[in-house]
Amino acid sequence: MTPVHELKSTPGVSPGVDHHCDVLVVGTGPGGMAATAAAAATGAEVHVVEALDQIGGNSVWSTGYMAFVNSRAQREAGIEDSAAAFIADAEASIDLLRDQYPVIADPALLRLFAEHSAATYEILLARGLRFSRFIPRPLQHRTTRMLAVEDMMDFRRAFEPEFSRPNVRLFTGTSADRLLTGDGHVTGLVARGPEGEELRWTARKGVVLATGGYQSNPELRARHVPGYLARAPYLGVDTCRGDAHLMAGAIGADLINMGLVLPLVIVSSSFVEDCIALNRDGKRFHDEAGPYENRVAALQAQPERRAFYIFDDETCQAKAQLLAQMPEPAMSAPDLGQLARKAGLDPEGLRVSVAEWNEFLSGSSDKDRSFGRVVLPAGRRQIVKAPFHAVPMVVGSNFVSGGMRVNDALQVMDVYGDPIGGLYAAGDAVGGFNPTAELGGMRLCGGFTLGRLAGLSAAEGRSGSVLDASPPKGAHMPSMIGSRIALQDVRG
Ligand SMILES: Cc1cc2nc3c(=O)[nH]c(=O)nc-3n(C[C@H](O)[C@H](O)[C@H](O)COP(=O)(O)OP(=O)(O)OC[C@H]3O[C@@H](n4cnc5c(N)ncnc54)[C@H](O)[C@@H]3O)c2cc1C
Repeated sequence: MTPVHELKSTPGVSPGVDHHCDVLVVGTGPGGMAATAAAAATGAEVHVVEALDQIGGNSVWSTGYMAFVNSRAQREAGIEDSAAAFIADAEASIDLLRDQYPVIADPALLRLFAEHSAATYEILLARGLRFSRFIPRPLQHRTTRMLAVEDMMDFRRAFEPEFSRPNVRLFTGTSADRLLTGDGHVTGLVARGPEGEELRWTARKGVVLATGGYQSNPELRARHVPGYLARAPYLGVDTCRGDAHLMAGAIGADLINMGLVLPLVIVSSSFVEDCIALNRDGKRFHDEAGPYENRVAALQAQPERRAFYIFDDETCQAKAQLLAQMPEPAMSAPDLGQLARKAGLDPEGLRVSVAEWNEFLSGSSDKDRSFGRVVLPAGRRQIVKAPFHAVPMVVGSNFVSGGMRVNDALQVMDVYGDPIGGLYAAGDAVGGFNPTAELGGMRLCGGFTLGRLAGLSAAEGRSGSVLDASPPKGAHMPSMIGSRIALQDVRG
């Protein structure tokens, strides 16, 4: 793939140079990519700064599960959904969190997502994304609405053309540092370029902060959660340091849910589809694909908190990138007996558990009798191909939920409840939407959906509601790619 910095160079950048644009987007994960596309489609001059060398942020490392409300895919599969059904699911999931954490969820953002995520589905299809199948999550999404993206690199490919538009300039290897203000408004920012040089921007209409969370910043985590959660391994790129939180906090933004850093068993949802988890007795002990908090509790209840995901060589080859994201290395052996000895598991228990799992998959039942697991390997593929592998289960830190409070134009609010002129937020940096994450598939789709609205708001200098706004003509359509519409196997 051509790196974006080659697609679009950054000529004219030199120390002390001031850049001017209408909208400045910071970060190019789902929120930033969608904000860029939406703002650019209005004709605004858009500049984008990205700390990494390529666009995409965490999306290209993700599992690619995305929840859409009332999408065409659901209708084609005969699934009835509605904004009200989604909001009821979200509220039920957030209520469970409230038992243990102080949580602030913004009903206006839930409604925005419910009403605009179906458009995100159409936009992503038109940009060339392909979805393979619905993933059931009956305990969270009581209406089936979560789809799996086939190739996560398509997130990047889908938005690359936006960064070659004549009215868009991308500055890679550039980290935003500080916001600039004047007359109570955000007027631009200061950043560090690839050589450490200081760069300044003036943004005539608005700045959109889409730098993700602060999971890669243990010091910031430690201010809000106990030590083990601050130090625990995390998922994703190491540039999610909470820069937006710090920059916006410094000018009075209201940061909410900063202590909502949930533990999780670190594993990609796509990888876990093909695994069973076994304890030292070689026995399964939970629904491997069940609610995140149940997985953590089940692992912590095992002796020495020790357990392994077991998988075969076909999974090892097909999902090598996801396996590489596991915090501890896998061990391998030519047969199950030797694998058991290496991992310190009971060999007979391991043999029986794998045989029982394979027997279940060879049948037609959609629900495993032992733990009610309904997320099964694609094609009900069994654990059969040697060599066999075991990778330790590790409790780490989930995507953090703290972020800026925004109004329903995605404009950042200050601690007094007033909007901060010229400042917008998108993606994981939006605090009031993040508590929906336990549903599954919400972060990517929330980023693309609310990011699009943030980009529109910034380009139009909105400070009021976007709820009834229809986007400008062409705002949602890709500029330079053909439509490769393919929805495959949506019933699978
Ligand atoms: C392994 C894994 C699996 C996942 N699976 C799923 C899933 O199946 N479904 C789901 O919904 N979500 C999933 N997620 C989470 C999802 O990918 C993220 O929540 C989502 O990408 C966040 O989007 P964002 O727009 O906030 O930006 P991010 O994707 O977090 O990207 C932020 C960007 O901002 C840049 N940046 C940071 N600071 C600065 C700065 N100061 N200046 C300039 N640029 C900066 C970063 O380099 C990065 O490119 C997964 C994540 C991982 C890692």
